[in-house]
Amino acid sequence: MRVEILTLFPEMFSGPFDTSIIKRAIDKEILAINLINIRDFSQNKHHTVDATPYGGGAGMVMQVEPLFKAMEHLAESQSDLGRVIMMCPQGQPFNQALAKELAMENRLILICGHYEGIDERVTKKWVTDEISIGDYVLTGGELPAMVVVDAVARMIPGVLGEMASAQADSFYNGLLDHPHYTKPRVYQGLEVPAVLLSGHHKNIDNWRRRQALLRTLERRPELLEKVELTLEDQKILQAIKGKEQEMRSEEKGTRKKPRT
Ligand code: SAM
Repeated sequence: MRVEILTLFPEMFSGPFDTSIIKRAIDKEILAINLINIRDFSQNKHHTVDATPYGGGAGMVMQVEPLFKAMEHLAESQSDLGRVIMMCPQGQPFNQALAKELAMENRLILICGHYEGIDERVTKKWVTDEISIGDYVLTGGELPAMVVVDAVARMIPGVLGEMASAQADSFYNGLLDHPHYTKPRVYQGLEVPAVLLSGHHKNIDNWRRRQALLRTLERRPELLEKVELTLEDQKILQAIKGKEQEMRSEEKGTRKKPRT
């Protein structure tokens, strides 16, 4: 996959893209990232890229011309630009399903805004998708672009050592992941659950599935409405809910009556 990132701050990307799994993906030529400095496309002698907003108000707005020129430059080498994504807090919320979908593209263009944002005419003319990484406002689109590239890249076959590890991760199949443990077996009196040491694969799988269901029920119950549950999953959830109910009634029974 080739990712073009249009930004005013290309230097922000060194670090996240020069280390670990993303660097390996670039070295293996599974992923290519081209950072395009929007300022290089400014036509005026001071290379300005922003101006005060029409209608007045606080802050600066990124101007239309440098972005149009940068996009026209990309369009010269490729008639089909593919998906052009504006990083934008007002966009579609980014999630694992969208990461999987974008991982199937051969090419992505990400545009990073700054200041109050980008002149709306850029979005109207060039943008196919607007993506938000959450309901909060950051100073620029660079961190959101890094988040999107990271999440998308790990969905591309060959980027992770084992795709199976991504498939067991939270959200991939709609549930949260189960807890993980590694050596040592006991640390400061804290023990690893015995089932994980049993070597009994079926029991381990059952325990993990139960934990994933339990965590999802406790932390993100709304996810359970969208996921396809097996009959076995439904039984486990019923049992968990039944146990919770029992504990609640026991608690009520043992609670002292308030003094009158
Ligand atoms: N005035 C804009 C608004 O209220 O919607 C916010 C502009 S923000 C300060 C500057 C840039 O940061 C945006 O153009 C966008 O590229 C990026 N940005 C900020 N928060 C974001 C988020 N949650 N998701 C994606 N991009 C974001």
